[in-house]
Amino acid sequence: MIRLEGKNFLVTGATSGIGAAVARLLADQGCQLVISGRNRERLAEQAAQMPHAIATAADVSRPEDCERLLQEACGAIGPLDGMAHCAGINIMQPMRFHSPDATNALMASNLISAFHLVAAFRKPQRHAKESSIVMISSVMAQHGCPSLAAYSASKAGLEGAVRVWAVELAREGIRVNALAPSYVRTPVFEKMTASFSASMLTQIEARHPLGLGKPEDVANAAAFLLSPAARWINGVVLPVDGGFHAG
Ligand code: NAD
Repeated sequence: MIRLEGKNFLVTGATSGIGAAVARLLADQGCQLVISGRNRERLAEQAAQMPHAIATAADVSRPEDCERLLQEACGAIGPLDGMAHCAGINIMQPMRFHSPDATNALMASNLISAFHLVAAFRKPQRHAKESSIVMISSVMAQHGCPSLAAYSASKAGLEGAVRVWAVELAREGIRVNALAPSYVRTPVFEKMTASFSASMLTQIEARHPLGLGKPEDVANAAAFLLSPAARWINGVVLPVDGGFHAG
């Protein structure tokens, strides 16, 4: 049974796509939230639609923003029962157009941000006695798709770190898991596939026995991993992919 009422969570990337769906679901479950993103206006709009949500702007690729975010989150709602790190970017970049700046920016938002956030989360008085961190990886961590080397590497790195944090932080009462979604219809997906032909899109859809995902599909899995119902689940990467991986 998933029970989340009254629990305190931080959600990054909460103004769009998967993060917005996670925040909405947790808010509907009666949680107190700190929602974060870079766009202050969209954050304020989002928070206004939720009963117990506080908005804190942060660029999670910056260590000082992550430290401030956790400080402000705990200052506002107390020790956290968990955190869903949903902020991330994707860049289609064939190796012949490799840009060190683009690769560094992607790594900073997708991978290094998780280090900053976990380091800030695990500090004393920042988390409850039993807490849970959910990272958003991708099926692309395990799957070779042209032009996605930096993205895939960022997610594979994240999965490696999740396994280490799960073992290292268990003694502090912190569980760490990841979700690996396949294609989910969000702004990132629409941007990425805008240049795809109709037959490419058909091929992508055909790889998913249950069709493409919705942000809510990922949010439901995140809510489970954040909840005490998942108290014995630690260090896993759960595919949420409509059967993509099985095919
Ligand atoms: P999205 O663009 O709708 O939402 C991502 C949000 O993160 C945006 O609001 C963006 O501004 C924010 N963000 C990015 N970098 C940030 C930074 N440095 N600091 C603060 N905020 C930042 O994308 P989404 O599809 O909801 O993706 C969410 C996560 O899910 C990402 O990690 C993505 O890689 C992962 N994912 C998405 C899909 C998919 O098909 N949509 C599939 C697998 C994994």
